[in-house]
Amino acid sequence: MLRKSVSMYLREHREELLSSYFKLLRFPSIANAPMAEGCGPCAEWIAGRLRGLGVRAEVLPTAGQPAVVGELHVDDSLPTLLAYAHYDVQPPDPLDLWRSPPFEPEIRDGRLYARGACDNKAGVILHLWAVEAYQRGGGLPMNLKVIFEGEEEVGSPHMEPFLAAHADRLAADALIITDGGFFDHDCPAICYALRGLCYFEVAFTGPDRDLHSGAAGGVVRNPIHALAAMIGALHDETGRVAIPGFYDDVRPLTDAERDEWARLPFTDEQEMRRHGVGVLAGGEAGRGTLERKWARPSLDCNGIWGGYTQAGSKTVLPSKASAKISMRLVGDQDPATIDAAFRKFVADHTPAGIRSEVSAFGLARPVLLDREQPAAEAVRGAFREAFGLETRMVRMGASIPTTELFQRILGLDGVVTGLGLPDSNIHAPNENLPVDHLLRGAEWMAAVYQLVSETSAPSGKPAK
Ligand SMILES: [Zn+2]
Repeated sequence: MLRKSVSMYLREHREELLSSYFKLLRFPSIANAPMAEGCGPCAEWIAGRLRGLGVRAEVLPTAGQPAVVGELHVDDSLPTLLAYAHYDVQPPDPLDLWRSPPFEPEIRDGRLYARGACDNKAGVILHLWAVEAYQRGGGLPMNLKVIFEGEEEVGSPHMEPFLAAHADRLAADALIITDGGFFDHDCPAICYALRGLCYFEVAFTGPDRDLHSGAAGGVVRNPIHALAAMIGALHDETGRVAIPGFYDDVRPLTDAERDEWARLPFTDEQEMRRHGVGVLAGGEAGRGTLERKWARPSLDCNGIWGGYTQAGSKTVLPSKASAKISMRLVGDQDPATIDAAFRKFVADHTPAGIRSEVSAFGLARPVLLDREQPAAEAVRGAFREAFGLETRMVRMGASIPTTELFQRILGLDGVVTGLGLPDSNIHAPNENLPVDHLLRGAEWMAAVYQLVSETSAPSGKPAK
């Protein structure tokens, strides 16, 4: 049970808590903007706030935006929880679709609107609030470490060397990653598997310059046709990816998971509305929507260009055609193996008269996390206590690259969870969270701390 002094503090200081969140939301901490403009001052503010609460905190540089790292050590006999969230945000464009300025938080109809209000400054402020409530109400029930990243929205390019360099400092008994969300309204969730990513650009070059289609058409091979044929060959008629060996390391979905997902509040109609389409025709025939999205890999062409694309006509046989192609990976699929298989596929589908080139960016491994760890039980218990709701175990079709890094480098399986709602408009104009939901979230996080202290064992010591 959450200590009375802690829940009282959170209830009696709602206005002050919200006003501290407003301050955090006013920093335009866009990861790809110059550091001095948004991320730097935001990181300093968070670290200062933590220090004011008795946490040993500092802003540590990376090769990009800085990270905030902090520690509050209470006692060796207590478990240590590591908390991850990110304070950087997506750019707010298009600005004219916002009803209030993105970096000037505003409450309308019980919802707090601002860029980052959900993704992911909520994940940061919950910890600041919980620490504040415990520090004013008798002290933390466990040891706490925090790491707040400043580059998640650009793919966490510097987290791998950062975690490796600070592995000792970040060592913990449990990890909570508050960058997830509810599966639906009234349906909190823990995400235990995320898909990985491979991203490629492919260029097909034919003649060394654009040619006259009257002089060369029918004689010289057109690289747009060759590229389109290659892309067309990437899937067979049943929607399966046709790259040889692509499915070799995909784990089949277990019956237990299939049953669990069948009980989620989910329908294909909802999914169609969400995407604004009338049919869910992508992916492998004969498999359910959640299975295709969560447990099967996928491949998409993200963009394609070449030749003449301006107004009117220009009779050209182009020199070059290009495409961007991304893949979402699952199970034990290794991005390096998939990379090699894709390059071979492209080479095998490069006809005479064409030279092909493949470059890769952004490889991330898929990750499967321990569903039954004590910290997951603590999160479920805290949702029961603060929201009166049962937690669903879900997967995610997208990737949070740091999740895999924490597992591989620190040996910590995170509990990926959070407050985000389906209509929180993350990455979009009018991002928001309901104020009551957010403040209840503060009690949830405080309850997580309490339950972690009761259920997780400090390393090397037997569980209580
Ligand atoms: Zn995001």
